[in-house]
Amino acid sequence: MKNERIFLSRPHMGGTEISYIDDAFEKNWIAPLGENVTEFENDVKSYVNMSHAVALSSGTAAIHLALIECGVQKNDVVFCSTLTFCASANPILYQSGTPVFIDSEPNSWNMSAIALKKALEKYSEQGVTPKAVIVVNLYGQSANYNEIVNLCQEYNVTLIEDAAESLGSEYEGQMSGSIGDYSIFSFNGNKIITTSGGGMLLSNNKEDIEHSLFLATQARDQAIHYQHSELGFNYRLSNISAGIGRGQMEVLPQRIERRREIFNNYQKDLSNIPGVKFQQELPNSKSNRWLTALQIDYKQSGFTVQKVIEHLAEKNIEARPVWKPMHLQPLFEKYDYIAEDNDNAKALFENGICLPSSSDMSNEQQEKVIKEIKLLTQ
Ligand SMILES: *Cc1c(COP(=O)(O)O)cnc(C)c1O
Repeated sequence: MKNERIFLSRPHMGGTEISYIDDAFEKNWIAPLGENVTEFENDVKSYVNMSHAVALSSGTAAIHLALIECGVQKNDVVFCSTLTFCASANPILYQSGTPVFIDSEPNSWNMSAIALKKALEKYSEQGVTPKAVIVVNLYGQSANYNEIVNLCQEYNVTLIEDAAESLGSEYEGQMSGSIGDYSIFSFNGNKIITTSGGGMLLSNNKEDIEHSLFLATQARDQAIHYQHSELGFNYRLSNISAGIGRGQMEVLPQRIERRREIFNNYQKDLSNIPGVKFQQELPNSKSNRWLTALQIDYKQSGFTVQKVIEHLAEKNIEARPVWKPMHLQPLFEKYDYIAEDNDNAKALFENGICLPSSSDMSNEQQEKVIKEIKLLTQ
């Protein structure tokens, strides 16, 4: 037990998940259909205050379907936050669209409204309106939506909110995942709650969500024989997985509270190290603090994030760099990138680190992480 591995973010069951799974077994609803799926959709949509939802096999699938509902086709331009996990951007390529990556702002680390404005101006001069803007809420922190929503309205662009990491976060009184025209969540194993793998697409547009459900279940036309007039997918969440999700929704408030507490402990104990700067919460917003993320300027601290990651790894502690921006990825580097003035996202990547943030991490384990980091300052 003493040297048990300390994970970045691992599943944390509440206890009731199993009863929903038992129920599915009793009723033999083992298919991607049944009460758990419907109730899980109801739980999430009422929690975030969106009218319609479809539970899916992943967050990636949810982004893919959102892009299809936006009408993204070959060569259509889609803007996307550059500082994110590849799953935000990959579905643009599934549709043979053209991604354009947008820089971060230094405080929230999320899409810079300044860079977004620059991009909208540049493309509108060429007569191009993006089919959608995918805005990511990184590590739980909401993007700065006031300006982003205004820009989207001004240029008539659909907003897809990638809230994969920010379930339960708030922005100016609005729940994360209720701001975009479409929003998506992920219930992958590393997220704040998990279904062992899953996602959800939400919108206030009933027809679009009904159509997404149709596409997610192989696009079967209304006929007794198997007839198809649209290209469908096998993207539905299973009733077993949804049962885990129902149990997890019951403990979400405690998970958020604990992750915020973990963040605050790190901040209290590490922010006096020179060059250390934690990801900031925007005014009037509340992050679920899915992962504690910070920057370490090695010129001031005397050690790099790589050094921290290596040192912690030796102690069986998992820490990670922040996402490598999409415009720096071999897969995406040929696409356009709009930076603020300096490349903020690149700087965040170079100096950024995520510390172990699992909600079931003990205080002793967190003290160990903090102690090991402090050793590097000597
Ligand atoms: C996890 C994640 C996704 C994808 O979710 P999956 O359920 O793993 O497909 C998308 N965007 C971001 C920002 C994520 O962190």
